[in-house]
Amino acid sequence: MKPTLFLEAFPWDLPSNQASSALSRLHGEVGVTGLSVWAVCPAVTQLGIAGGSVQLVRCQGGCFVEMCGRTEQPLKAPPAIVEGAGTVGALHEIAEACGKHALDLRLIVSASRMGGLVARHPQFAALNALGITSDQSLCLTNEVIREVLRDVVKDLAVRFTPSAIVLSDLSIGWRDGDVGNVRAPRALGSAEQSLLSMCFCAACCVQAQRGGANADEAASTVKRILDRSLQGDFPLHESLAAVLTEHPTLAAYARVQCETLSALLGGLVACCKSEIVVSRDLQGHDGLSGQLDPRLPGAILTRLGPSTPVEAAFVPEARRSELHVAASEMIGAEDHNFVKRLSDAVELGCAGVTIDNYAFLSSSGLTRVRQAMRFARRTAAS
Ligand SMILES: [Zn+2]
Repeated sequence: MKPTLFLEAFPWDLPSNQASSALSRLHGEVGVTGLSVWAVCPAVTQLGIAGGSVQLVRCQGGCFVEMCGRTEQPLKAPPAIVEGAGTVGALHEIAEACGKHALDLRLIVSASRMGGLVARHPQFAALNALGITSDQSLCLTNEVIREVLRDVVKDLAVRFTPSAIVLSDLSIGWRDGDVGNVRAPRALGSAEQSLLSMCFCAACCVQAQRGGANADEAASTVKRILDRSLQGDFPLHESLAAVLTEHPTLAAYARVQCETLSALLGGLVACCKSEIVVSRDLQGHDGLSGQLDPRLPGAILTRLGPSTPVEAAFVPEARRSELHVAASEMIGAEDHNFVKRLSDAVELGCAGVTIDNYAFLSSSGLTRVRQAMRFARRTAAS
């Protein structure tokens, strides 16, 4: 089957006076299958070149459309609405333009980092083993947040009938900024960063007890490992999986969180009319989304860093496996590498590619995308 090509964009990347002409070109000249547009985003600062001029956008995050309010039992934590020039109504216009130019529309929803919610409702934030509340991540174990997510996903599917809803940040964890950039006596390894991100909020502790795991012991284990790692007299662990093998209490706790996340995903698939695509970030340190059962009901979109082998993008057990790449991979010397990675991924069995972000692609960048995708599609056909 011909691999699909989606370009990721924020609604502000396609202002209303440019959306229709831009989409016409994407379909006719670049060979794009569709657009993957953020409908609910985390806080973001973006420097882009969409439309031929440099543009810096700073956004606190939230929904790009007003949600249909529930009259009976209103949500306890309704999502924030993104305000600012060029955002109101933009999603509707883009959806309309996609229909007009025969492009598929996917809507991206940040699950645990819905902009603005943590600031207004810190009681639903993730909490790490050191007792520090996240200023960015909501805990998806919390039923209030699960309800918000189900409502948002259901509402978007009904109102926009997208070909898919892409779930980003589907993880249970404490992630403030880039955990890897935390100043520390000794740089933390990937496993230690995952441990620092593990959530021990009240909802997670209750869930752990229900699932037969001991949250207090698990939190003590995390603190002990971090303490020894920071003092430098303890080798860093190779992976979170290695830590879990060594510490059964922690493994039991992580298993309950994985099951909680899988159950949430199953519920979203069941209540949503559109297909659910789960976006996994292998560069992130939320060890949990990496451990989700690959046979989960949605398709899997794997976000690769430039140094991640392309083999990691293909999940044979998944219903469908797709590759997510950064547009920056196509700049300068990386250009050749990008073409090869794309065709390698397709040859391995990836059913599609998403390029992040439309605003990072100059006119020549779009031409390179077209050439790379043609090459990949020929590879798939041969
Ligand atoms: Zn939690």
